[in-house]
Amino acid sequence: MKDLIIVGAGPAGLSAAIYGIRAGLDLLVVEKFSPGGQVINTYEVENYPGFAEPLSGWELMSRMEEQARRLGTEIVSGDVESVAADAGRFSVTMAGGQVMEAKTVIAATGASYRRLNVPGEEQYIGHGVSFCATCDGAFYRDRVCAVIGGGNTALEEAHFLTRFASKVYLIHRRDQYRGVKILQDRVAASDRIEPVLDTVVESINGATKVEGLTLKNVKTGARSDLAVDGVFIFVGFDANTGYLPAEVLDENREVVVDINMRTEVPGLFAAGDLRSGSRRQIVMAAAEGATAALEAYDYILGLT
Ligand SMILES: Cc1cc2nc3c(=O)[nH]c(=O)nc-3n(C[C@H](O)[C@H](O)[C@H](O)COP(=O)(O)OP(=O)(O)OC[C@H]3O[C@@H](n4cnc5c(N)ncnc54)[C@H](O)[C@@H]3O)c2cc1C
Repeated sequence: MKDLIIVGAGPAGLSAAIYGIRAGLDLLVVEKFSPGGQVINTYEVENYPGFAEPLSGWELMSRMEEQARRLGTEIVSGDVESVAADAGRFSVTMAGGQVMEAKTVIAATGASYRRLNVPGEEQYIGHGVSFCATCDGAFYRDRVCAVIGGGNTALEEAHFLTRFASKVYLIHRRDQYRGVKILQDRVAASDRIEPVLDTVVESINGATKVEGLTLKNVKTGARSDLAVDGVFIFVGFDANTGYLPAEVLDENREVVVDINMRTEVPGLFAAGDLRSGSRRQIVMAAAEGATAALEAYDYILGLT
């Protein structure tokens, strides 16, 4: 029986481990892929305090993982399928049936890319459809790409793609982008990015790989075809919460927590991108992970 099991080793989970272990908790982190979370696919991070120069997401998360391990954190590989509370203890069940027990749990499993759910999307993943410009951008040197979305990630990734692509169409369903001003300015200053507003994708087309998109203007209803070699989709995220009890989730299946990261279930905490109202930033996920670990400590001592 552990004091604390942390599910997920992104910034929230690793920060929770650093704070938990320094508080003296006997804890374990369970991660289904490799530690680091979404950030390891991010080309450059320039808003994490303490680093005057931008650094790669991979480097930032390697440092966080190393710090957690140096303090004694054990990170095990596993896909958590359920967390169940019973008489003051938690059973954490992994795919394959292994069950571990703990007095407290921090859910820090972040979020995954949302799909457009249009014809061709699923079929052409890896053949022109991508959710990661950092990973796949270099395949599109001197080619034409489309980026779908209007938030920070879409703007950032469209700008990143201009290192390779000869042209990037930035397609958004509204009449203006939602991303922060500094990113909007960067996009506006690029002669390789062409804004396509008020427009949705109806289908992703091609014979054996992506060759084009069918678009629809939401104001006029007019349909058009656009030839592209690749399409990068950044239309939001869904919280990874399928393994959590329904009573801690809201209608969007995001975890509801109070200011101290406590859920409705005593002893169960949540931190990072999976929580309702998250701003989805590394520094916030890290801060919430720290808060959750200190709350777990207080809970075990009977202080809360
Ligand atoms: C392309 C891109 C660029 C970004 N750029 C920036 C930036 O410049 N600055 C910034 O502040 N933020 C940025 N973000 C946002 C930032 O990455 C997230 O806010 C942050 O990673 C959230 O951390 P987290 O720990 O909550 O979740 P995540 O990073 O999503 O980590 C969750 C972890 O849980 C694991 N997991 C999921 N389900 C299970 C399960 N069932 N069992 C076990 N493990 C599981 C996952 O594999 C993952 O490792 C960017 C995001 C993207 C996608």
